[in-house]
Amino acid sequence: MHCPFCAEDDTKVIDSRLVAAGEAVRRRRECQSCGERFTTFETAELVMPRIIKRDGSREPFDEEKLKFGLTKALEKRPVSVDEIEAALNHIKHNLRSTGERELPSMMVGEEVMAALRNLDPVAYVRFASVYRDFQDVSEFAEEILKLKSDISTGPDAADVSR
Ligand SMILES: [Zn+2]
Repeated sequence: MHCPFCAEDDTKVIDSRLVAAGEAVRRRRECQSCGERFTTFETAELVMPRIIKRDGSREPFDEEKLKFGLTKALEKRPVSVDEIEAALNHIKHNLRSTGERELPSMMVGEEVMAALRNLDPVAYVRFASVYRDFQDVSEFAEEILKLKSDISTGPDAADVSR
């Protein structure tokens, strides 16, 4: 990169180390022309897509809100904080990896449902009943039936008895 002092095209990296628990790289550079030294930091740019609400308005992705929703759904359920954090990271990863700059809020809801489904069936139904607003009772019953068949045939069957 350019020297910030004399604008020389080329500068040399003289030291490079990981900082912030490996989340960033700190580099010492030296200008070959004027001899000045300076530091650069390199971090991954993990920008979350903006959220398109049902009414078409946009808002920034709100991690706290998402965490609150998950925690609320999992209240008094046998799911650890670590598991919630992992689910949160998984959701964020999935949303980011769409590569889209804006995503419908519905998609976030679907991700939350998928995460809860894995974590705790009771929390899943609890969340789904609120989230989908269940205008149609048969839809609710369908979800529960799907859930039951998953429990009896799925690989996690033994876990559900907790
Ligand atoms: Zn320079």
